[in-house]
Amino acid sequence: MNEVLIVGSVALDSIETPSGTIDNALGGAATYGSIAASLFAPVHLVGVVGADFPTEHIEFLKNRNIDLAGLQIVEGGDTFRWKGDYISDLNQAVTHETHLGVFEHFEPKLPGNYRDAEFVFLANINPELQLSTLEQVKQPKLVLCDTMNLWINIARDAVKKIFARVDIAVLNDGEAKMLSEEDNVIKAGRSLQKMGPKHVIIKKGEHGALMFSGDEIFASISYPLEQVVDPTGAGDSFAGSLIGYLAKTGDTSIGNLRRAVVYGSVVASSTVQDFSTKSLAALTMEEVERRYQAVQKMSAF
Ligand code: AMP
Repeated sequence: MNEVLIVGSVALDSIETPSGTIDNALGGAATYGSIAASLFAPVHLVGVVGADFPTEHIEFLKNRNIDLAGLQIVEGGDTFRWKGDYISDLNQAVTHETHLGVFEHFEPKLPGNYRDAEFVFLANINPELQLSTLEQVKQPKLVLCDTMNLWINIARDAVKKIFARVDIAVLNDGEAKMLSEEDNVIKAGRSLQKMGPKHVIIKKGEHGALMFSGDEIFASISYPLEQVVDPTGAGDSFAGSLIGYLAKTGDTSIGNLRRAVVYGSVVASSTVQDFSTKSLAALTMEEVERRYQAVQKMSAF
């Protein structure tokens, strides 16, 4: 089976939402992405943590068929920590603190077997680190990347450089407008396509996602939920399961990409139902298939 290589943050998150708070919980873009992708395919993770990263999290990730040979553990270093809230808007995190810790001096080094990976997910991290990871992969078949407002603000040129090298770029609507400098989401999608990616996916939270491919647009609805507890990691779970499904099937045709977008949104719908990785970790493929079919039924006409 095809394997997925994922680089990105592995973090300890402190989050406040209208449903409550949680401190120093398992988080990070590569963490959510890897757990989601591992529902579909074996994962090789590239990242860094400090010696303060709880062993129980390492054991949990290993038990998910996630290869941690590429996870550097820095003696005496502090794990990346992110603190944020979603009090005024469940679709938009407000960052209170970003403690880079071991990220400050991180240089991704891919173990030998990682370099043969065909499916690569460059999850949220400094775009220069996304580039240096990609440069170590021999012959990727499909590369997907994510980014965030911080990097668009402080490293726009590097974000554009990575966009020019990927097959699929995934962003939320705010980020897409910010990077393209367009205030209409369709114009933003079209403009981002011109930066290089074959497909641009714009996520609109509870309102679904749009995929731009050539002249075509595919619209997917989100799985309807009555309550969102913690939106953290929704985007990473979306992208992780999308690439996991593509790796599992080995099919990168447009029809299969559409199915992958729907798998991405149903997995993300589970992530947001509890704090941190709790709900995603408990998600079964039976439930994924049930939600996938429900979405199919809801959007057929
Ligand atoms: P999202 O899918 O956008 O909700 O991603 C949430 C994750 O992004 C959290 O678990 C954070 O640890 C992580 N994160 C927040 N800020 C950064 C950053 N500057 N670089 C990398 N990861 C981050």
